[in-house]
Amino acid sequence: MSIMPAAARTLSHVYPADARLNDAGHLEVGGCDVLELAREFGTPAYVYAEDDMRARAREYVDAFRTRTEHFEVIYASKAFPATAVYKLFAEEGISCDCASGGELHLALKAGFAPERIYLHGNNKTEAELRYAVERGVGTIVVDSFDEIGRLERIAPERQKVMLRVTPGIKPTTHSYIQTGQVDSKFGFSIDDVPRALDTMKRLRLCGLHAHIGSQIFELDVYEKLAEVLSGVGDWPKLNLGGGLGIAYTHEDQPPALEDYVDALLKNAPDDVTVLCEPGRSLVGNAGVSIYTVGTVKDIPGVRTYIAVDGGMVDNLRPMLYGAKYEADIASRFGGGRVVTVAGMHCESGDILIRDVALDDPKVGDILVVPATGAYGHAMANNYNAIPRPPVIFCRDGDARVVVRRETYDDLTARDVV
Ligand code: PLP
Repeated sequence: MSIMPAAARTLSHVYPADARLNDAGHLEVGGCDVLELAREFGTPAYVYAEDDMRARAREYVDAFRTRTEHFEVIYASKAFPATAVYKLFAEEGISCDCASGGELHLALKAGFAPERIYLHGNNKTEAELRYAVERGVGTIVVDSFDEIGRLERIAPERQKVMLRVTPGIKPTTHSYIQTGQVDSKFGFSIDDVPRALDTMKRLRLCGLHAHIGSQIFELDVYEKLAEVLSGVGDWPKLNLGGGLGIAYTHEDQPPALEDYVDALLKNAPDDVTVLCEPGRSLVGNAGVSIYTVGTVKDIPGVRTYIAVDGGMVDNLRPMLYGAKYEADIASRFGGGRVVTVAGMHCESGDILIRDVALDDPKVGDILVVPATGAYGHAMANNYNAIPRPPVIFCRDGDARVVVRRETYDDLTARDVV
C-alpha cells in the first residue's frame, strides 16, 4: 500500500484556496502552521488567508470586466467588519456597503473614500443619516417613506440615493436570510416606487437596489431579479445585492462566480451599470476558526461530546440558522469517530457541529472549523462574559494579529460604577 504524503492530499473546497497539509500533516493557512498559530496566539481564534480575500475580490472584478464596462463590485462589510478588511478591500479598489453608522465609521477610519460607500439599513436613525451626509457618503440606499422624509430635511441638494425595493422573489435559503419577498421589513414594494419618486424633491435618485437573500445557490432568481427591476423603469444603475452562497461542507457545490455574474447580467439592459454587493462569498472561505478540545464526554450508546473553548459566542450561525459546518483535528485530518462538537457556553443549544467524523479527538487537540470567515467575527458576542477571539491574518508564512483578543478588562471598560 502506498501512503500519500500529507502535503499531496487535497483539502476540501471549504478551506482557503492556499490551505494545505504540510509534511508534518498539520493544516497550513496562508503558509502558517495552525498548531504554531494556536501556540503563539492562543485559541479560540479566527485565522484568515489574506491572499484568499484579495484573490476573490479580483475574481469578482475580472468576471464583470470581461463581460461589461458598466459595473461596480461593493464589499458588503457586515460579513466581516474589521478595519484590516476594510483596508484590504479599499486597496483592491472595490466599493463598500455599510449597514449602520458603526460600519460606516469603520470604513471611513480604514480609509474608504466616502464617495465609494453605500449606506444601508431599514431604520437608519437621524444621527446615522447626519453622520453619512456630513462625511460625504456617496450613496444612501433609502428604505422607507419615513427615511425619505428625514433625508429631504437633512441631506444636501442632489444627495445621491438608490431606492431599495422588494421584488417579490423568494430564493431557497433559510427564512431568516430571505429578504426579497413582499412580506419583508426591508424596502419599498414595487407598487410604491412611483409614489416614492413623487416624494423626492431634493434627492437625486440614481437607481434601484434589491437584495433577495443570502447563501443562495440558484441562479435563475438573479436572472429574474434583473428582469423585474429593469421592468420598473429606466435607471442608470441597478444594484442586484449580494447573496451568492458558499460551501460550508464538502457536499456544498455553490455556483461558479462566472455563472453567477452571467445570471446577473443576462437580463440587465446593456447601458445600465450593474452593482453587485457580495459579503459572504468574498470572505467566508478565507477564514477558519481554531479551538482547543477541553473535554471529551462519552455517553455510551448515545453520543460523544467534545467541548471546545469557544462556540456560540464566536460563531452564532449554528444556533441562529441551524447552519452546518465540518471540522478536522488540525494535526490529524480525516478520521472515523463520529462526535458532536459542543461549545463552552451555558446553553444546551450551544452546539457547533452535530455528528462530525474526527480522528479520535483528545483533550488538547486543536480543532479547526473551516468556512467561518463570514458572519463569525461579525456576530461575535460576550454571552457568559467571554472575551471575543482575535483575528489573525496569514500571508506567505507570516501571521499578524489584526484584531487582538478581548481581555477581562475590556469587559468592564464600559462600566460606569
Ligand atoms: N447587501 C445587503 C443589503 C445585505 O443585506 C446583505 C446581507 O445580508 C448583503 C448585501 C451581503 O449578502 P452576502 O453576505 O450573502 O453576500
